[in-house]
This record gives sequence, C-alpha cells and structure tokens, in this order.
Amino acid sequence: MSASRKLASFRLPPLPTIGELIKLYNLRAEKQLSQNFLLDLKLTDKIVRQAGNLKNAHVCEVGPGPGGLTRSILNAGVADLVVVEKDSRFIPGLKLLSDAAPGKLRIVHGDILTYRMDRGFAKDVSRPWEEDPPNLHIIGNLPFNVSTPLIIKWLEDMSNRTGPFTFGRTRLTLTFQKEVAERLSASTSSRQRSRLSVMAQYLCQVHNCFTIPGRAFVPKPEVDVGVVHFTPLAQPQIQQPFKLVEKVVRNVFQFRRKYCYRGIEMLFPDACRIELTQEMMQRADVDPSLRPTELTIPHFKALVDAYAHLCASEPSLLSYEHREELQLRHHQKKTKRPADTLMDTTPGP
Ligand code: SAM
Repeated sequence: MSASRKLASFRLPPLPTIGELIKLYNLRAEKQLSQNFLLDLKLTDKIVRQAGNLKNAHVCEVGPGPGGLTRSILNAGVADLVVVEKDSRFIPGLKLLSDAAPGKLRIVHGDILTYRMDRGFAKDVSRPWEEDPPNLHIIGNLPFNVSTPLIIKWLEDMSNRTGPFTFGRTRLTLTFQKEVAERLSASTSSRQRSRLSVMAQYLCQVHNCFTIPGRAFVPKPEVDVGVVHFTPLAQPQIQQPFKLVEKVVRNVFQFRRKYCYRGIEMLFPDACRIELTQEMMQRADVDPSLRPTELTIPHFKALVDAYAHLCASEPSLLSYEHREELQLRHHQKKTKRPADTLMDTTPGP
C-alpha cells in the first residue's frame, strides 16, 4: 500500500470515551473560561465534514479541550494536525491522543490569539493566493468570547495575507453563538445584517452550515451554536486597507435604523460635515436614504473608495474619530465643573 493510501485510511485505535477521559483527568469545565464540551462524536464528525475533504490535509485546531473534535479530525485522514490549547489541564489527555496517532498530532500549549500560525506549517503547504486554496484548514469550537475577536483578527490577517493566510486562502470552520453566526452570513436587508456581515463577506464566502442546540454541550450553554465555514475570496470585494473599510462600515452602522448618510456624517469633523458627506455620497453614487442594512457590498465598496479619495486630498480625515471628539468634549466639560463649583461655593470676602 502506498504511503498516501496509508495516510488516507488512518483510524484511531479504541480509546477511552471523551466522557471517561474527562473523569480520568478530572477535567471539570471552567465556567470563567466558558468551556462547553462536545462529547458526541457523530456531531464532531458532522462539524469536521463542513470543512470539506480533509484527506492528507494540514489542520490547526483551536481549543481542542478534551479532544472530541480532535478525534474526528484525525479520523478524517489528515496528514498532520496542530492543536493549540490554553488550559494545561487538557495536555495529558491530548498526549494520549498523540500516542494513538503517531507522528500526526502536535500539541501547542498556548493562546491562539498570540500563536504564530505562519510558523506552524512547512512553506510547501502554500498555494498562490489567486489559485485554489491550500490543503490547510483551521477548525475550532472556541468559547464565544474568543471566537468573535479571533475572527475579526483573522479577517484583518486575511486582508493583509498574514498569519494563517501567508499560506494562501486558508479555509476556516468555526463555531459561534447562533446570533453571531447569523450576523456573519446575513444578506442585504435581512434583520441580522450588521457590521460583522459586511466585514466578513467583503473578504470571504461565508456559509452558515448548521445550528447545534445548546443541549448538545456539556455543560449546556445558555445559547445555541452555529457552525460557520469561511473561504477567503481570491479577489476581495473591497480593495482598500482593512482599517479604512472597518472605519467606514463601523460609522455607517452607528445609526442602524436611520438613513445611511447619518452614520457617514460621523466620518467628518463638524466644520465640513455636511459638505463632505454630500461629496462622498455623490462620488459613491449611493442613495443617502437607504438604511445601513439595505446597503450591498458593492455599495460599501463605492463608499469606502469615495472616502479613500477624500482622505487622499485631506489626510487629516484619516485620524478623525467622532467618538474621540465626543469623549474630549465630555472630558473638557467634566474638568471645567470643579472649578465652576469652587467659584460657586467659595464664600465671598
Ligand atoms: N473543542 C472542545 C470541544 O468541542 O469539546 C472544547 C471546546 S471549549 C468551548 C473551548 C476550548 O478552548 C477549551 O478547551 C478552552 O480551554 C480553549 N481555549 C479558550 N481560550 C483559548 C485560547 N485563547 N487559546 C487556545 N485555547 C483556548
């Protein structure tokens, strides 16, 4: 049998169940770390299938915990799997898995938010960005307080082709709180359309695969969970720096229910607000009376391009943040008050 056939037909030998492992190593879920485990291997197999064909693939799993999803990934016939786990209590159980899958499982005890994935795999895994995605996947069932900042960080990495995207259009299969999963994939005019929808969809094809009821986890979280698959686009739909796109999208969604020009106004200082908003809307050729949720990605592209054009002629606009101006005014008011009070209460001569 050839080496590649051997790789593809790999199955883990009989092992203690995840439940037994949790008891064996006393792996109580830590509430502060929002740990909710998946013990049903049919369900973890289903999550792994959303990633596509993993035969001979290179995979990074984030937050393996007691290793349910890890087993399903190994059984999918991967070439190698790097798991990044922050909680040291899970390392002995993961070592047991690593012994059962010789040469396939590398364990990193660390934080995924700082892990250098660009150094985690050999360079020959890479594929040029415009070609098919590399056979490299990120898969994970992370706590919700980590998965949202992490996807924002990875979207920025995607835009800059850094981190996991130094290898090309690395695909991701991740879990989110159901509402966040819906926002990530929400189409124009849908109730869940938000800043996150635009930021994800201008860079990726986003697929909300299925929902896992909260009761499938141990302990049961308050919410249901959505599995989302991301494939970075060969051509991002907006070709401007990530931070610039983020600034425009954030401001537009500041007044979700109002006409979109209201948020756009906040991109400009008081003195030139009306004039520059008009100029930006005209240049972008976007109807100012559309609501933020009604704007398509091409609308956002036109708006970001128009804003970039205005910033090119007036670079000080780039650093203008309405929120900061408000904070400054608030601070000035506050620092003035004690002096006023002092004047009011100081007895006269
Ligand atoms: N994947 C396992 C499963 O499905 O049963 C565990 C899921 S549990 C929701 C999340 C796991 O991510 C925990 O093992 C937790 O310790 C780990 N984790 C949390 N924050 C992390 C971080 N910043 N970096 C790496 N792992 C993290």
